Order: sequence, then C-alpha cells, then structure tokens
Amino acid sequence: MKKLICILLCLVFLSGCGYASSTSESFESMDTFMKIDIYGSEDVAAKIRAEIERLDGLLSAQDDESEIGRLNKNSTAELSEETSDLLAKSLELCNDTDGALDISVYPLVEAWGFIDKNYRVPDDDEIKDLLKYADYRKITLDGNSASAGSGVRLDLGAVAKGYAADRAVGIMKENNVRAGILNLGGTVAAVGEKPDGSKWRVGICDPENTASYFGAVSVSDRIVATSGNYERYFERDGKRYCHIIDPKTGYPADNGTVSVTVISDSGLLSDALSTALFVMGIDGAKKYWRDHRDFEFILLDDKNNLWLTEGIEADFKLNADYDYNIKTIKA
Ligand code: ADP
Ligand code: MG
Repeated sequence: MKKLICILLCLVFLSGCGYASSTSESFESMDTFMKIDIYGSEDVAAKIRAEIERLDGLLSAQDDESEIGRLNKNSTAELSEETSDLLAKSLELCNDTDGALDISVYPLVEAWGFIDKNYRVPDDDEIKDLLKYADYRKITLDGNSASAGSGVRLDLGAVAKGYAADRAVGIMKENNVRAGILNLGGTVAAVGEKPDGSKWRVGICDPENTASYFGAVSVSDRIVATSGNYERYFERDGKRYCHIIDPKTGYPADNGTVSVTVISDSGLLSDALSTALFVMGIDGAKKYWRDHRDFEFILLDDKNNLWLTEGIEADFKLNADYDYNIKTIKA
C-alpha cells in the first residue's frame, strides 16, 4: 500500500512539472562539442541536433560546398533567404561594434594557424598585407545576392553557435517544449526552468583550470555566451596568442581581457558581443553597454578583476575558492 502511494505521488509530481521525460544528445558540430538536454519531449533533442548539423553545412567557412564556402571561393554567391538574413544581421553587428566584430577576419585567423592548427606568428608585412582583406564593409548584400571584394573571405565562427542557439529555442517553442539546457560549445541556451522549478545555473569556466567554474549565473530564458583566451591559443617565447583577432591590428586581442560572458535573450547577440567585447577590452565594453543596455556582461581581466554590469549582479554567484575583485558597472 505504501509503495503504491509513493508511485502515485511521483506521477503527480512529474506531470505537475510537465517534464515526464528528458532526452540528451552529445555530439560534435561547428568545430566544437555540444550537449543538449531537453525536458518533456522524446524527440526534440534529436530534431535540434539535426538542425545544428544542417546549419553547419550551410555556414562553415571551411566547407567549399557550404553557402559561405561558395561565397569565399567565388567572391559572389546567391544565398538562401536564411543565410542572407543571418549575414545581414551579422554585418549590422560588425558595424554597430565599430568593427570589433568583423566577419571577414578569416585570412588572418588562417595566417595565425588557427584553421589547420599549424600555429605561427606571421611577420608584420604579412599581417599588413592581410589587413587589406579584413574589412566587413567589402561584403555587400543585394537581396539574396552576396559579394565580397577580391581576397575577402568570411568566417561566421563568432556568431554561428549563437544563431544555432536561437534556432534551437525556436524548435522548442514550435514543439511546445518549455525546458532545456543546451551547451553549444560555450554558448549556452537556458530555456524555462529546472525540473525543480528553480532557475538554471550556468557556470563560467575558470581560465586557469577549465574543468572548474569560478562562478555561475542563475538565468531563465537567456543565452549565455563566453569567449576566452583559454579556449584556443598557442604560446611562443612565453607569449600567449589567442584565437580572437583584433581586426584593427591583425594580431590576437591582447588588452588584458581573459574572458567575457554575455547574457541576453538573443543567441546571436550574446555570441557576437562576447567576441566583440573581448576585442574592445573593459573600457570599450563599458561604453558599448552603456550605449545599448539590451544585454549584461561579466568580464574577467588579467589583474583578477571581475567586472559585472549591474543587471546581472544579483544573479551571479562567485565560488568561495576565488578571490576576484568584483567591480560593478553602473549605467
Ligand atoms: P569560440 O568560437 O571559441 O566560442 P568566439 O565566439 O569568440 O569563440 O569566436 C571566435 C571565432 O571567430 C574564431 O575562432 C575566429 O574563427 C573568429 N574570429 C576571431 N576574431 C574575430 C573577430 N574579431 N570578429 C569576428 N570573428 C572573429
Ligand atoms: Mg562569439
């Protein structure tokens, strides 16, 4: 008799939450590891995985057959509605961040060896030469017809995972699925609430030990994207060169920023800005936030300062083992 009551209570609890089942998918796509946990659906995780794999096929700069690959190869291409729309929005963000985000840095990313992992420090002349091709203003869109100046090549690596997160959230909505946590290689979509009704806690990597988190943000229906100098980098003569390029200099960004986390309700915005604010550094990031205010950010610098915008402060918790100096940024 006791047992029966217990089973009934469990059933009531599960149906009350609407999370009668959960499914996961772990896979590699967009050159990174992804893990999707979806609550209250049997098949949506697989649908989202298929969608992300489709987007990778559409957007990968390294695939000559993708739409972006064809544009890179031929300097012109007729794009699908979806790719033109993403390209238009990305170009707007390049413009809005005054080129801190620049989707045409591909030749520089390649010269530093971040594509084939043959890392090298190009000489100044080579960088100067390649800077001529790194300029998003040389990419134009007329309807769905895109063209890029000669030698200009695009790389949507800084925004694709964010766009994928938005599509994933869209698929969940279309299927009436209310909760899930999706980690698309450092771009995390926290949808709805945890099965116990509390907010999701998204950890932010300790740059010195990426198996640990220095803290976490509690969020619901937000996309949390992090860019850091510990993700992909190499060292030469004691100096660290990271995979985020400052499009103004052609060198990896080197302004004392260690990691930037952006929290907003748009994956595209969070992903684009985590890269752009990393390039801007703390002063530029503060100014950009004060001018926009449609996102929050957390920036760790190499002096152990942890900068938080005031809108995220209450939802951020620093782990007890870390003694970062917390500095709140007010509007
Ligand atoms: P990750 O891909 O490691 O999550 P980001 O979202 O910050 O990190 O994107 C970095 C990728 O974007 C790089 O690997 C490179 O392909 C490209 N990239 C590097 N610098 C820039 C930049 N200033 N603007 C746009 N894209 C960039
Ligand atoms: Mg990014």
